Amino acid sequence: MTYQAANLGFPRIGARRELKAAVEAHWQGRLSAEELAAEGARLRRIHWQAQKDAGIEVIPSNDFSFYDQVLDTTVMLGAVPARFADAGYFAMARGTEDAPAMEMTKWFDTNYHYIVPEFTQGQDFRLSSDKPVREYLEAKALGIETRPVLVGPVTWLSLGKSRDGVDPFACLPQVAAVYGQVLRQLAEAGAQWVQIDEPILVTDLSDAQRRAFRIYDDLAGPQIMLASYFGALDDNLDLALSLPVAGLHLDLVRAPGQLAQVLGRTDKLLSLGLVDGRNVWRADLPRALELAKGAGPVQIAPSCSLLHVPVDLELETDLDGELKSWLAFAMQKLGEVVTLTRALNEGTPLPDAATPRAASGRVHDPAVKARAAAVTAGDLTRPSAYPARRHAQEVLGLPPFPTTTIGSFPQTPEVRRARADHRKGLVSDADHAAFLRTETEACIRRQEALGLDMLVHGEFERNDMVEYFGEKLAGFAFTRFGWVQSYGSRCVKPPLIFGDVSRPAAMTVKWASFAQSLTGKVVKGMLTGPVTILQWSFVRDDQPRPETCRQIALAIRDEVSDLQAAGIRAIQIDEPAIREGLPLRRAEWGAYLEWAVDCFRLSASVARDDTQIHTHMCYSEFNDIMPAVVTMDADVISIETSRSDMELLNVFTELSYPNEIGPGIWDIHSPRVPSQQEFEALLHKAAAVIPRERLWVNPDCGLKTRGWREVDAALRNLVAAAKALRAGQ
Ligand code: GLN
Ligand code: ZN
Repeated sequence: MTYQAANLGFPRIGARRELKAAVEAHWQGRLSAEELAAEGARLRRIHWQAQKDAGIEVIPSNDFSFYDQVLDTTVMLGAVPARFADAGYFAMARGTEDAPAMEMTKWFDTNYHYIVPEFTQGQDFRLSSDKPVREYLEAKALGIETRPVLVGPVTWLSLGKSRDGVDPFACLPQVAAVYGQVLRQLAEAGAQWVQIDEPILVTDLSDAQRRAFRIYDDLAGPQIMLASYFGALDDNLDLALSLPVAGLHLDLVRAPGQLAQVLGRTDKLLSLGLVDGRNVWRADLPRALELAKGAGPVQIAPSCSLLHVPVDLELETDLDGELKSWLAFAMQKLGEVVTLTRALNEGTPLPDAATPRAASGRVHDPAVKARAAAVTAGDLTRPSAYPARRHAQEVLGLPPFPTTTIGSFPQTPEVRRARADHRKGLVSDADHAAFLRTETEACIRRQEALGLDMLVHGEFERNDMVEYFGEKLAGFAFTRFGWVQSYGSRCVKPPLIFGDVSRPAAMTVKWASFAQSLTGKVVKGMLTGPVTILQWSFVRDDQPRPETCRQIALAIRDEVSDLQAAGIRAIQIDEPAIREGLPLRRAEWGAYLEWAVDCFRLSASVARDDTQIHTHMCYSEFNDIMPAVVTMDADVISIETSRSDMELLNVFTELSYPNEIGPGIWDIHSPRVPSQQEFEALLHKAAAVIPRERLWVNPDCGLKTRGWREVDAALRNLVAAAKALRAGQ
């Protein structure tokens, strides 16, 4: 056997987000179930054919999904929660009138969200979907032999949540039995190989998880390519090698060192993940070739499924040639896999790299590098500690239980249309600015009428909290079709950070000052934090991430400084992505949190004592990062709590969060308007564990997805609840 070109998964959304359009049309009743199924089949055919035409020899099937591959696995196993008995596939992800949706959370350290499996007492598992076999046969009928992909049983069990205390691994035998059946069916259909994804193998495993892997001892059927990705197997390497599977895939982009640990130790067929499935840069082919050369006949593949990168760079007609020459999307990455394979098999020379990024003047800005290198501990620290700052901030004149919001107000269809028209050049800059001024002023007037204490300008000029800043910073580029599936039909288009980052001009001062000029109340400036900007972008891979993050932090620091100089007295630096940046291995958490917190502090610490720094994080799992959150030393932090019924506040008291806290009391993800009494009850709960003088009153997150009717009604109740607490104290 020679080297073989393989792929682990192809983006399913379509180069022009065709799947998104079809699924959403179906939800709106404009596309029947049959029409949706036909569109799915059409996309699968196009994607299989494209891979075949590219020269890929091992082509995946069952990597397609109408919503999520973990949800598909849940369906396959017959593990649909009882409340969705007859509700249908999408109901589990989206909820129904009387059945709340299943939870959704991030897939390992990606920005892809999967639907969390639920385990309950007495659950019954049985094979309930023929999707893997159906899609295998569908490809076969098109003349394309594929390797079906399954989410592995141990990963699936590990990602689920127990509803009533049942141990997920107690159902292992039943789950294994269903996998056994699926494998048998695939073998009968003619599949020679299956790919079973067990990314859980690159995390710290418990004994129960390790034991669970022994179910592979009994799985018969097609030969198994066990896929690990997103990191190194490390201490799980022996376990992986001990399983009687025929093949093992290694992520050599994240962990190139593991190849040497494996060579000579196994007769399994190795699959080498040499092309980065998580980022958009062209591969360093000579380096990849060197690695693979010593490995003997193996499969050459992307590091993981290409689900996490955009589909096709060819569509990017607006990117300049130099930048484009540095990039590779899914189609180009498959080209790289094939190029490498041919070079290994036939000795064909590798194509010359175009202008190497490293040599380009656009990538390096000596002034930025020098400034980042000169950062001192003093730059990371506010002039005084919190107690003195609190005293200085009394000039803000806030009442007890101050009310505020998280930043954005409803992005109505008119606001979105205006922005789109402006982008298309249908509306002049001046007219668009006038429109935004009108919206902002109306928003200020509404907040005044509602009686909120600290106002915001409403963020009407912003498309997205990262894109808005990226467009104003040097070192960033944007694509037109660089969409990546985030969850279900939702896609994101992450900016590309290709070079040293700097801020040529102020980014938000104009809108913040305009809003402040309209009112006597304090208007809170609104910035996205450096870690979140980093986390939600495709980041350059030619320097360490903390280095890039520090450059962004300095740019945000300049903005804080300018806002303050322009008379803005409170500034919120949103960091909703700090937690998701946690490395997959616990041993690496400390180092990550240290640089992440340092970057936040670098951006904030230019604030004077009397400038109030807020931060916002919208999630409810703080256990792991609480000490770091304290170290961020924001004057006020707003967090998500309403869905956890204030339970998470325990973390904030236990370690006694020393500064001010706004536990979100309104779950803005739901259209429901809570009553004043509900808000009061939540505030009493909060006041029982957090000193009253440090408690803020605010929603969970920004209001951009809500309508004005709910916003007006809910905020009226929220302000009334705060006033009731004030009166009662
Ligand atoms: N300021 C942002 C907003 O209100 C925060 C969004 C977020 O935390 N995701 O929209
Ligand atoms: Zn939020």
